[in-house]
Amino acid sequence: MQETLPLFLDDPYLSTAEGRVAAVNDRGGILLDRTCFYATSGGQPGDIGFFEREDGSRIEIAATVNGQSKAEIVHVPSNEQAVPEIGETLALHIDWPRRYKLMRMHSACHLLTVVCPFPITGASVGEDESRVDFDMSEAIDKASVSEKLMELVEGNHPIFAKWIDEAELAANPGLVKSKNVRPPSGSGRIRLVCIGDEAGVDSQPCGGTHVSETAEIGAIHIGKIEKKGRENRRFRIRFGELPG
Ligand SMILES: [Zn+2]
Repeated sequence: MQETLPLFLDDPYLSTAEGRVAAVNDRGGILLDRTCFYATSGGQPGDIGFFEREDGSRIEIAATVNGQSKAEIVHVPSNEQAVPEIGETLALHIDWPRRYKLMRMHSACHLLTVVCPFPITGASVGEDESRVDFDMSEAIDKASVSEKLMELVEGNHPIFAKWIDEAELAANPGLVKSKNVRPPSGSGRIRLVCIGDEAGVDSQPCGGTHVSETAEIGAIHIGKIEKKGRENRRFRIRFGELPG
């Protein structure tokens, strides 16, 4: 197994970095010693972008995924790309406008779980629209949810990560909001994403990338609330103001 240092965990704003080619797998996937490319996980799509070689030529990256374990990050080139040499140093460039939208959207999903404090049954972060599914039977008005979301955005609360150990998580079961997905156990450390001074707004386990202050999310609204079965509601978050 080839472990990759995930630079995006400490600095989600790193749009470029240098990485050394550690391996190329049998399907052409490129493994590096370190990367700023986020691998698809927890409902957030992996990064796309390109690697720049010493001679200035480019290797376009169409997807980033985990390999055999979460510690392994595989960069999947588009078709017909040159294969880099093992040991070669590459300048890594993520598609930053896309990633930044995903960071804003992902952060907005956390705020939605504050406004709607129900167990989460699914989530998917997208560039233009994200969805979060809740185990709830209550009828809820999208205008009032949108308004509460914007109060949290405009409150400009800090967003930061903090590591805790498994014992601390076990002592605080309320931190886990997902109904079916448990944070990975066995690794010893769990990354909590906190919102607000001293995490006063929210904290929950998450390995994704987020903006550092809620105001960066900008204008968002609930585009739609769908009923998915008797006890499930699907919320669709979109950028921009709620259309009047
Ligand atoms: Zn998150």
